[in-house]
Amino acid sequence: MEYEIVIGLEVHAELATQTKIFCNCTTQFGGDPNTHCCPVCLGFPGILPILNQKVVEYGVKAGLALNCTINPYSVMARKHYFYPDLPKAFQISQYDQPLCSGGYVEIGQGENRKQVRLNRIHIEEDAGKLVHEGFMTKMDANRCGVPLIEIVTEPDLRGAEEAKEFLETLRLTLLYMGVSDCRMEEGSMRCDVNISLRPLGQEEFGTRTEMKNLNSFRSVVRAIEYESARQKKLLEQGQEIVQETLHWDDATGMSSSMRSKEEANDYLYLPEPDILPVTVTEEEISAIKDTMPELPSVKKQKYAQAGLNEKEIDVLLANPVFNAFYEDVLAQNGNAKLCANWVLGGISRILNEKELDASAIPFRGSRLAALMQMEEKKEISHNMAERILNIMFDEDKEPQQIAKDHGFQMVNDDSQLRELCQKAMADNPNAVADYKAGKTKAISVLVGKVMAATKGMAPGAEVIKILTELLQQA
Ligand code: ADP
Ligand code: MG
Ligand code: ZN
Repeated sequence: MEYEIVIGLEVHAELATQTKIFCNCTTQFGGDPNTHCCPVCLGFPGILPILNQKVVEYGVKAGLALNCTINPYSVMARKHYFYPDLPKAFQISQYDQPLCSGGYVEIGQGENRKQVRLNRIHIEEDAGKLVHEGFMTKMDANRCGVPLIEIVTEPDLRGAEEAKEFLETLRLTLLYMGVSDCRMEEGSMRCDVNISLRPLGQEEFGTRTEMKNLNSFRSVVRAIEYESARQKKLLEQGQEIVQETLHWDDATGMSSSMRSKEEANDYLYLPEPDILPVTVTEEEISAIKDTMPELPSVKKQKYAQAGLNEKEIDVLLANPVFNAFYEDVLAQNGNAKLCANWVLGGISRILNEKELDASAIPFRGSRLAALMQMEEKKEISHNMAERILNIMFDEDKEPQQIAKDHGFQMVNDDSQLRELCQKAMADNPNAVADYKAGKTKAISVLVGKVMAATKGMAPGAEVIKILTELLQQA
């Protein structure tokens, strides 16, 4: 029998706030264990958490970018469970009244384009980290109280590829909104994968399992492939799928049972009595809208319409700083393809050579646009432009100035070019004779002489034109 894979994701993204969700401790990654903490995030008795308004703002921003309804009134709730990384023995999260409801993410191209519906986005605090060393387990509370959003999808994804594309799109969106740096390797974005199988054509969903805390796109794909194959095998043997929580082991490439699936009532969700309900007004929403940059999905469409290919678009979008530079060039020049050639060509090459990232480009896009204009106006050749670009990384000067200082001005004066051509012919009578005898290739000798005389600063096509004319007269 053919089965269809059904997937719903729960994605946790760490918010890029400076401080934690209920106290003023830093959210900075790393640090010596238990140094980024205070009585509030350690959950001492009698403490009073105060909700960081930036967390609400970032949550709303994410919601707007992901087409959600922003709820004017939402409620923080205590989710109770016992685990050593959770000092209070409850996590402050949101339950039946989340900050954002609904929404969607678009994935796929052309006919395969589809909307992956979101169920909700809520805000919550992170737990601490357990470090297992031999027979000992140590607890680091630095992450306790780091703000998260949890984005829950409807079971709309139909395989590993779709899940991956969804996560990539989501990641770029959050990254461009500045709400999360989405560094999977630092755990600032991670996801739980819910997966079930159903016979192709059947409407009703099958029983699902949930794999916890996958922290790379690659492991999400592997985990889905492994788990869907495992379920398929069981179903084909006529066995039932047990609804349970699984642990994915990236090293062995296998999932194993962690615990039977807990139900919501196991958590004894209760409204958090120490924090007022979260209210968001229309005015606040429109103020947040005003600060939102262009969405990567909008940029993507814009670039595609301008004729850029998928690969170019992916690279131009991968890093917001790099993208801002490109947009800066584009704002001055307007030719998307030409700007992409320069940014993905010259700029990327130099960054690679120097092992720098985009934030280290020492000039603004307008400076590159000025360089491009010099080439367009034929003041310099393309080769020269490339050489000037290299120098622009070392000298803080406008390209015109660099051209002047280094003697990179094109010889564009027609009578001067004519003189140089005539001199080349006078100095190389053999080449002239060869040309006249029908060996037209001999002209390249003469072109070479003119180029040498101008240190490459003569316009090649123009030189050939003049030489051809003069040779015909000779
Ligand atoms: P819970 O509250 O028990 O975690 P939810 O109904 O909130 O369950 O669903 C959690 C996630 O599981 C959601 O992303 C949802 O889309 C997904 N999901 C629910 N049912 C299925 C199913 N049968 N197969 C795959 N994913 C599912
Ligand atoms: Mg869940
Ligand atoms: Zn604290």
